[in-house]
Amino acid sequence: MTMTFEDLEACLARQPRAHLAHLPTPLEAMPNLCAHTGASALYVKRDDCTGLAFGGNKVRQLEFYFGQAQAEGADTVLITGAVQSNFVRLAAASANHLGMACHIQLEERVPKSEPAYRASGNVLLDRLLGATLHSYPDGEDEAGADARIREIAEALRQDGKTPYVIPLTPGHAPYGALGYVDAALEIARQADAMGIAIDEVVVGSGSGHTHAGLLFGLRALGIPARVSGICVRRDATTQQRRIATRCQEIANLLETENPVTEEDIQLSDAALAPGYGRLNPATLDAIGEAARHEGLLLDPVYSGKVMAGLLTRARDAGQGRSLLFIHTGGTPALFAYEPELTEAFSQAAE
Ligand SMILES: *Cc1c(COP(=O)(O)O)cnc(C)c1O
Repeated sequence: MTMTFEDLEACLARQPRAHLAHLPTPLEAMPNLCAHTGASALYVKRDDCTGLAFGGNKVRQLEFYFGQAQAEGADTVLITGAVQSNFVRLAAASANHLGMACHIQLEERVPKSEPAYRASGNVLLDRLLGATLHSYPDGEDEAGADARIREIAEALRQDGKTPYVIPLTPGHAPYGALGYVDAALEIARQADAMGIAIDEVVVGSGSGHTHAGLLFGLRALGIPARVSGICVRRDATTQQRRIATRCQEIANLLETENPVTEEDIQLSDAALAPGYGRLNPATLDAIGEAARHEGLLLDPVYSGKVMAGLLTRARDAGQGRSLLFIHTGGTPALFAYEPELTEAFSQAAE
């Protein structure tokens, strides 16, 4: 059952939402990068330009979490993430913007001890934004990290605060994904206004809110564009199940049918190795190509890997087709990976 733009908009309008993002973000052509691939057109959706505190995809997601937090009368928001998490940086900025306090729990997900990784990039911004920082020793224990942050929330409640926890594990209402259902509407309208057709969208797939939200939104509108998820955290088989669950959770939350089928969920984990937050040669190449051909800055953890995936798709399946890269931001992490990036790009310049 296909929805009109207005139906889907009305569905989203029933959900509490805080205003945080600068929208719409630009949708632009990447002609120079395109010339290096077999694709007929390459576009970029500039969700690195969502405005708040260096921007990124999490600003759209946080509009719905903070809407919910405000609806529940919360004065303090809690969130858990990797040391160089963009989500926690943007939660801290959102809390400040809305006059709330923020507690951040940083998980040891990436085996990196360099001073840049520990103190620069997002960590520097978390400190500058004045969030209260906690640490969690395990990086691959999502349930444990969620349980610990709930203990911190409970202690705050005992202190008279009204805490709201932003959960990352599946099994919770996927408020964050609603930001990307809305982005699907925005993209569809922009493509119509520009008179372009998009055959394939290439997007990062981590918690899955961005991937599932976009896919859900496009299919709900009856738009058949392939959505290629690029794994940045888990292998494709594990991620497939996660995205299927998320899509059903979105349908439950919006009280609509789930328009997404198993075949709609396309994933590649070819750019993931050696693992979350760790660079590989294809990602370094992709970061360099986007910077040199388009003046576009990408990050080592997410958008660089997704660009590696886009370039592969453009070369392998791009002939006669147009592809859209979702730039999800993350650029502050460039400074956290300074030693590796200096090594890679000073060699390239010689
Ligand atoms: C979190 C993040 C992603 C992944 O988005 P999910 O909604 O968690 O799948 C991609 N890119 C950047 C820059 C991010 O911070």
